[in-house]
Formats: sequence, structure tokens, C-alpha cells
Amino acid sequence: MLLFTPGPTPVPQNVRNAMAQETMHHRTPEFEAIFEKTRSHLFKLFKTDEVVMIASSGTGAMEAAVINLCHNTLLSVNSGKFGERFGKIAKAHGLGNVEIKNEWDTPVSVEAVVAAVKANSDIDAIAVQVSESAGGLRHPVEEIAKAVKEINPEIMIIADGITAVGVEPIDVTHIDALIAGSQKALMLPPGLAILGLSNSAIDKIGEGKGYYLNLASEIKKQRQNTTAYTAATTLVIGLLEVLETIEVDGGIENLYEKTATRAQAVKSALEAIGLHVYPKSPAKSMTTIDDESASEIRKLLKEKYGVNVAGGQDHLKGKIFRINQMGLIEDYEMAWVVNAVELALDTLGKRAYDATATKVFNEITFGLGK
Ligand SMILES: *Cc1c(COP(=O)(O)O)cnc(C)c1O
Repeated sequence: MLLFTPGPTPVPQNVRNAMAQETMHHRTPEFEAIFEKTRSHLFKLFKTDEVVMIASSGTGAMEAAVINLCHNTLLSVNSGKFGERFGKIAKAHGLGNVEIKNEWDTPVSVEAVVAAVKANSDIDAIAVQVSESAGGLRHPVEEIAKAVKEINPEIMIIADGITAVGVEPIDVTHIDALIAGSQKALMLPPGLAILGLSNSAIDKIGEGKGYYLNLASEIKKQRQNTTAYTAATTLVIGLLEVLETIEVDGGIENLYEKTATRAQAVKSALEAIGLHVYPKSPAKSMTTIDDESASEIRKLLKEKYGVNVAGGQDHLKGKIFRINQMGLIEDYEMAWVVNAVELALDTLGKRAYDATATKVFNEITFGLGK
């Protein structure tokens, strides 16, 4: 079965092997050396002033960012389940929350964020997804960050890059916290989250807030290549292997380029067989299709063609399917995925099979006819 869900994503064999070694003690020079190497790779990936790894799923890093960087009111962008979560985190900690809500196919506009910031001087942090995985859309995070900093540079910009870091380049010039999680673009099992932080973020953090998620304690320790509490040693070892694999495989820029081309090829292939891309501004992390037969297509993909893609959640359940684009994906596997979708449409009597999807995919991916 090909795993093509936008998280969890497949863990490469060499990464699984690296994580199959005996558990290492975390307070040892051996582990500190691994931690140091991993940190230096992360600095290159995030391009932020500081990086911090915490043992939690991605939501833990979202919570850490909110409690440490928002001391008054959080403006959160809700175009899906993950954006909604930022608001819930703020409320759970007794912080103020202003939300800009849109349908799950609609990215927030820079103007809407600017207007909200101007209307409420209590807002001291903004939280937004780079790629909102609920509907597979891309928010204009960099433009938002720039516009907000022009109004008030003290406002912290929290960017959830859980399905964006490692997928596409992100301009962190005006971003204060950039979040990643292990089981999405980083091709690892769940359980490790990473935050890239700006120097302004570190100033605002000060002594830090919370206990386990206190970022000041972690920054202090991690600068010494250790962690405040027991490190997720196995996952850190896996992460180092992932980052080294990306480097050997042509580097991160190469991965960004391959991902962008593949996402474009899949989008064009599926549009060529009459399918509709759901989000108005598709993210590169996944291809999301809305279709009245989404459930039937997913079922056929799984049972007949050996492809596991994700469906939708909440009100989009049974209405969309999402094909992963994150990680090291072989073109021959993706060629099969688009072909399988076309076969499923034929089985459902929606469109006679003529190999159009594969042809379009191949033209873009392999430059056929050029
Ligand atoms: C998966 C995901 C999360 C939540 O991560 P968990 O690891 O499930 O806690 C947050 N944001 C986005 C955009 C995601 O895709």
C-alpha cells in the first residue's frame, strides 16, 4: 500500500534503520554530538536566529509558541481545523482571542489581518498556518508578517509550518516563530516538534511561560546541546538522518524544486481529467480535490489500486480527498497515484479511461515533447 496521506508520511528505510539502534542515554557526549549536528542542520533549514526541539506532537509547539509569545490577545486565522486550534489554545490559557474566520478553501487576506490589528491594540501576537492542512491551502504568511511589522514591530508573528517547513522556502525575515512537526514534511514518526525563533521572539520570551513548554529553559539548555527534560533521542537521531539524506540527495533547494514541480504536475494531471482543486491558493504540501464522489474514489484507490490518500474532516468529510506531496517521493509512485485516480473515475462511470492523467503528469515531470 502506498501511503499518500499528508501526515503521517512514509519514513525512509535508512531513517528507520538509524532509529533501530539501542536507546542512547540523553546526558552523554555521544548524544550531545548528535544533538549539535542536528541543530546545525536545523539552522540551515529554518534560517532563524534560534531553533528548539521539543518532545511533543506539533500541537505542543503551537502551544509553546502561543503561551511564550502572546501575553495579551492572540489574533488567529481560522481557515481550517489547525487555524481554529490556535484560538482554542489561547482561550485555554486565558488569553484574549480575535479570530478571522473563512471557509476552508479561502486564504486570509493581508488587508483583513491589517484591519484586525488596527482595530484592536490588545493584539500582541498573530498565529497563522503557512499551509493549512484541513483544505490544503497556502496563506500569504510572509506578506502578512511584513505588513504587520510595519504597523507594530512588537507584534509577534507565529507561523505554523508543520506542512510547509521542508516543502517550500519560507521567508522568515518578519516571522518570529516557525513551527515544524516530525510526522509531516520531516518524514519521521510523530513525537518531535521544532520551533525556529527570531531574536525579537527570544527578547519577548524573557524568563518564559509555562513549565514543560517554557521556551526560555529550552533555549538555555539547547544552546549547550542538551535539553531541559529527557530528549526524544530516537527521533532526534532519525531527524539527523533525514536532514543528512536531504543534503546527500541534492540539498533542500533541490527538494523544494522537485516538490513544486510534482505538485504542479499532479494538479494539472487531475484537472485534465475534469477534477477540481479545492483551495483557492493551493499549498505545495498536498493536492486537495473536492468531488461529490470523494469517498468512493478514496475507497477504490485503497481497495483496488493500493493507494492510501486522506479524506476531509468535519464538514468536508466525504467531500474532498488530499494527496500528499511532502517528503522524498518517487515520481514513479506519483505517476501511479494519478493513474489510479483516473482508473477510479472510469470504474465509477464518470469518465472513460484514456491515460490522460499519466500523460499530463509525465509531460510536466519528465519534460516529454521538449
Ligand atoms: C498536523 C498538523 C498540526 C498538528 O500536529 P499534531 O502533530 O497532530 O499535533 C498542526 N498544524 C498543521 C498545519 C498540521 O498539518
